[in-house]
Amino acid sequence: MIVLDFDEVYEAHFRESNIETEEDLANLEFTWCEGCRSTTGIHLTDRESLMIHGFTTKEAPYGICISCALDYDKLDVRLKEEEFSLDTDLFYKEEGKTLATPLTRKKLTEEQVSEEKERGRSRGQFRDFSNRYNLKSLYRSALTEDRYRKMDPPYFIGNRLRYHGMDRFQNVEIDDVRSNYDLANMRVERNNRIPESDAERPTPMEFRRDWFDSLLDSFILHEKHNEGKPNKRLAYALICTYLHKSWDWNNIEPLWVFAKRMGIGNVQLKSKMNDWINPIPDYHVTQMESLSNVPSFQTITNLVGVITEHSHDVMISFEEKQELTQQSISLLNQLSNVKIKVPVGKTSVEKTLLNHIHSVMKFNGSFSIQGQELCAAGAIEALCISYCATNVLGKQRRNVLHRKFLFPKGNGVPWWKQDLTTDAVHIISSFDKIIDKFQT
Ligand SMILES: [Zn+2]
Repeated sequence: MIVLDFDEVYEAHFRESNIETEEDLANLEFTWCEGCRSTTGIHLTDRESLMIHGFTTKEAPYGICISCALDYDKLDVRLKEEEFSLDTDLFYKEEGKTLATPLTRKKLTEEQVSEEKERGRSRGQFRDFSNRYNLKSLYRSALTEDRYRKMDPPYFIGNRLRYHGMDRFQNVEIDDVRSNYDLANMRVERNNRIPESDAERPTPMEFRRDWFDSLLDSFILHEKHNEGKPNKRLAYALICTYLHKSWDWNNIEPLWVFAKRMGIGNVQLKSKMNDWINPIPDYHVTQMESLSNVPSFQTITNLVGVITEHSHDVMISFEEKQELTQQSISLLNQLSNVKIKVPVGKTSVEKTLLNHIHSVMKFNGSFSIQGQELCAAGAIEALCISYCATNVLGKQRRNVLHRKFLFPKGNGVPWWKQDLTTDAVHIISSFDKIIDKFQT
């Protein structure tokens, strides 16, 4: 049986339990899956279904939850619940036994009750498993397979880590000094060890690096907002991905670099940006604002990671990667030490070179999400890396990296030139000269 709605669960418990006193109410117990950390999911209770999944009623007296063992990539939406819930090929297994969670009974704290209600509300119609799968298919096919594969890294796509190696990722903080790229690149071999206890078993709720899971809430909002309208899911998904990885993981790259490697033009992007969810969801605003964060050694490290991973015209060795990162970080430090005078009206103010460049690195007014100003995150990092690449990779490879990847030239005026402010374009064109001046 699929238990979807907590309010229904709550009511059913009320009806079935003989609640006569306050104490009965306080002792009310719910069926609970520790894997999903939820009272709702696909719960199987009859002896035969348990047997099919390799369980006995003795080890799972309240039944099992199979939601947390379902491989969504294998699930076919056309299957009905009673068909797929007994098709063990669709589930993660260990030695023939589904990695399902035996259900327990538990009293819920007030906090858990409200969490359960909230979860039900925010997921709305998409809390349903097949709808969730449908939604994933919609966005995956809007993206097409090639772009979907390119999400990895920094995202994991598919479910390959859901049941193994998760412990390495559970404590990743945004300000973790290790680069997200290095973490994402720690390919974890499939580990066939059976989890020793339920507590040790990773749960889908913790699986935040999955591309679809990370963006699920944005997708749900978009579908609700765009009912009956043309959807532009591709542009929306790409912009949301860009904002999410920048903000959540500090995984910075210039928007035009991301757009080029994802094969989307600025016209498509702009058209979606002008037709954003209205009013802009708060967390999208937060994400956009974070694009104005000052470059740091971490964003440099991340961008070098993006380049190494995705620039196929210039292959960069491990040593070169290290060297490029080091030199670019030290150039960034120099920028923050150099003081310059910037004219303001009839006088001038003293600023660091970094602050000055950072304050002008913006997209112009026509390139904005419903008028919300966008900073050209990653541009300064790209300039530092490109400058240092002459030294590390040699002039020829540097030029290829600069012109094909970091500041791509197309036919006519490249779109980053069209959409950045004049001041920003000026800095980009004269950056090498500015640095040479301070280096001598
Ligand atoms: Zn579960």
